[in-house]
Amino acid sequence: MSDIVVLMGPQGAGKGTQAKLLSSMLAIPIVATGDILRDVAREETDLGREIRSTQSEGRLVSDEILARIIGDRTSQPDCTKGYILDGFPRTTVQAELLESTAKKQGHQILAVKIIVPKDLLWKRLTGRRTCPNCAAIYNIYLRPSREPGICDLDGEQLYTRSDDNEDAIAQRLALYDEKTRPILDYYRVSGRLLEIDGTGSPSDVFSRLVSQLSGVSEGADV
Ligand code: AMP
Repeated sequence: MSDIVVLMGPQGAGKGTQAKLLSSMLAIPIVATGDILRDVAREETDLGREIRSTQSEGRLVSDEILARIIGDRTSQPDCTKGYILDGFPRTTVQAELLESTAKKQGHQILAVKIIVPKDLLWKRLTGRRTCPNCAAIYNIYLRPSREPGICDLDGEQLYTRSDDNEDAIAQRLALYDEKTRPILDYYRVSGRLLEIDGTGSPSDVFSRLVSQLSGVSEGADV
């Protein structure tokens, strides 16, 4: 089994959901750069304000900031047995940085591309609603809460992410095609890319993911 699993695919592909399931199965942490950046964006500092506006417009945060975040987070003790990356790398500069980080840490990299048709991505993103308290995720079209706008689990008011508006979504998907998609070829040519169908329920997708991953560990030289 590879030590670093990189979940790839456009926004709305279900990387976050699969990351949670995989993290419980493999007992390794999730490093989700979007979440880490959202935490920084809540701070009333120059950096916080800069990241807040970058995120809400759907633009990419600089590679320098990401390098610092990845370096700090993945050197924590809970990452020594490996980790799952969600939302990183997104540019070729970040992919190169990950190669050197993995080498230093003695980890292998395996990338997983989650494939979802564009119209479904759009529905998943425009319909996404999140609980600010327990982070449960709903979708007004595909998985509505029992009472509209209210979390089933704790009764909190659900919110829409600032970058889940149509302009920012279009921008994020275009940036994915331009900057992130080329990285897939980089992993494909080096034989480190699995491709899975991301349609259906989270557990359907997870079963496909687990069966592909077990194929890889069976074939690995141990
Ligand atoms: P996500 O939660 O992964 O959809 O990320 C939300 C936003 O955080 C993105 O639209 C970017 O503004 C920023 N972000 C997250 N990860 C990265 C990254 N690897 N490189 C640059 N910006 C990022």
